[in-house]
Amino acid sequence: MGSREVLAIEAGPTHRYGQEMLVAIRSVTDLPVRYAVITHRHPDHSFGLGALVDAGVEVLMHPAEAAGLAREGPALLDLMTVLVGAEWTEGTSTEAPSSMVEEDRLVDLGKRPVDILVFEGGHTKGDLVVHDRTSGVTFFGDLLFVERAATVPHADIGIWLTHLDRLEALPWTKGVPGHGPVLEDPASFADTRDWIRFLHRRVADAVLTGESPAEILDPGVPAPYAGLVEAGPTFSRAVLQLYRRYEAMDPAALDALVEQPPPD
Ligand SMILES: [Zn+2]
Repeated sequence: MGSREVLAIEAGPTHRYGQEMLVAIRSVTDLPVRYAVITHRHPDHSFGLGALVDAGVEVLMHPAEAAGLAREGPALLDLMTVLVGAEWTEGTSTEAPSSMVEEDRLVDLGKRPVDILVFEGGHTKGDLVVHDRTSGVTFFGDLLFVERAATVPHADIGIWLTHLDRLEALPWTKGVPGHGPVLEDPASFADTRDWIRFLHRRVADAVLTGESPAEILDPGVPAPYAGLVEAGPTFSRAVLQLYRRYEAMDPAALDALVEQPPPD
């Protein structure tokens, strides 16, 4: 929030959530909500955006993620409606955002400059990070999970690891991860970094040595990661998602990918 207007981050999973988010903002300020940044296409972040567009908010998203939402959104919305019930998803649509952010952009909310930073190809094809220059508070989206197992359905883990280094080096004071508690200590980056590096090496090694996904999953989640929230179900999905992708890769290229520095 600046002296003139407000920037919201994410829209939540349903139209109703998006509406209630605006009501919650109204309880804090009468300033107009000018922008909403949707960090990426995953439904828990994006499906409420129609409520914000309807309210005249300029909803910002990376074009690759807007395209992914248009492509995959309707089927995911149908699935979500079956799972949670039509009364919760009523009014929800997977409509397009208002504006695209293809490169880093600075917006001014009135004596409050805020960076919208583009990170392509990490957690998804176009993750957006919001950095408030005044307070240093930074919203990392799903590039950062704290105390919770990061999900990888659209991830490129090699690129994601380089993004984490860049994010950690930003002049942030408090960080808001996509999932998990607010962080002040950079050590919390290890929750995402170590987990995705483990997933990557474990699955790549298995593909190179001819182990099956069942053989990877059989012993369960290894001890250092077992305490992460949702570690078990995320491990099962991630192994299958990555295995399919790595199996289709040239073994030499995969070998090179595995040759990453070991965890420090
Ligand atoms: Zn996500």
